[in-house]
Amino acid sequence: MDDDFPIYPSGLRLSGRRVVVVGGGHVAQRRVPQLIGVGADVVVVSPAVTPAIEGMVGAGELTWHERGFVEDDLDGCWYVIAATDDADVNARVSAAAEERRIFCVRSDDATRATAWTPAVGRHEGFTVAVLGQRTPQRSAAIRDRVLELLRTGRITTREERERAPGVVLVGGGPGDPELVSFAARAALMDADVVIADRLAPRELLGDLPADVELVDVAKLPRGRSAQQEEINRVIVARALEGKRVVRFKGGDSFVFGRGYEEVLACREAGVPVRVIPGLTSPVAVPAVAGIPVTHRGVAHEFAVVSGHLPPGHPDSLTDWSALGRLRGTVVVMMGVENAPAIAAALVEGGRSADTPVAVVCDGTMPGERTVLSRLGTLADDLRTQAVRPPAIIVVGDVVAVAHPDEYA
Ligand code: SAH
Repeated sequence: MDDDFPIYPSGLRLSGRRVVVVGGGHVAQRRVPQLIGVGADVVVVSPAVTPAIEGMVGAGELTWHERGFVEDDLDGCWYVIAATDDADVNARVSAAAEERRIFCVRSDDATRATAWTPAVGRHEGFTVAVLGQRTPQRSAAIRDRVLELLRTGRITTREERERAPGVVLVGGGPGDPELVSFAARAALMDADVVIADRLAPRELLGDLPADVELVDVAKLPRGRSAQQEEINRVIVARALEGKRVVRFKGGDSFVFGRGYEEVLACREAGVPVRVIPGLTSPVAVPAVAGIPVTHRGVAHEFAVVSGHLPPGHPDSLTDWSALGRLRGTVVVMMGVENAPAIAAALVEGGRSADTPVAVVCDGTMPGERTVLSRLGTLADDLRTQAVRPPAIIVVGDVVAVAHPDEYA
């Protein structure tokens, strides 16, 4: 558009209203889903359409007139998009639209249009629309940047900042800060207090505002239950002081993360608590290392099990012999120390000693490495390779799918 003709931005309510798209190529294909998304009654006029548009016709999402454009196509319509690759046809469409006082977008020549399609994105009830038709890539880049700022909580209103206190359990994913969700980042940026685990992606903590109180769980008094009790106590105490508390953990809070104990502690104290899930390491760590936990025709189930207690331990709740009978994938967490006993128990349960095993250490992090083994030789391999936690142990034929040469 030209600076001589400044545009007036407006939001259109197209729900139930006829919108005609002339042309059935890739431009039309990009516009049509947005129109369908807002409930418009979409009519595509074109002798041919892309397979994607044909699919939408088949799904009953739009009407297709399989022919060339005629001026009468615009009767009764509210909005037109001229998106053919023929400038003469587009010119006829805009002339017919002008005559009928219908706003018309033109894919070939924006200067001749009466309406423009912005780069659009949505976030929590807001629509971000950026116009600048001479530079559509730049519009899209600006849209992306604004959306990123919104999603990461860096554009907030006073009301949002003054939100009620409470606790958010945030799953931080397997370690790589890129694998943290938008919601998790936003919660961190919004926190007064952050209580972080050793396995949480700690690089992100460097971005926190200076006045945020950071509690490092690794520095709390030792002993499993003493430490958890102290965490529960700090979480509840800070929330009752009126602070927004983020409990930041590795992976997902509810997968061997003791997250639900913290939920219960908050409930007991009458503190509001919310959960933001994270990518959990038993799935994400093998994935980043190139190992699928399921694969068609190979593994139709996967079991995730904690190895922190050895098989046969009086407090163990795991039926290792049943896991030994499983055909699919067994993913063992916190299992490095007890791996020899676990491998033996699985073989005793019926799993072949030849079963491929992959041990992924420091998954998604700079020092990531994978040790390949088999159940029968796992104990020796862990010792000679000096494997240290944190590690994910993947047992099953999916390991051979990922490393066919090593298991040929
Ligand atoms: N809540 C976490 C798991 C906590 S238990 C989650 O959902 O992922 C800690 C165990 O997780 C470790 O002993 C190890 O088995 C596994 N683990 C977590 N992050 C890991 C990583 N980056 N690489 C390898 N193993 C990891």
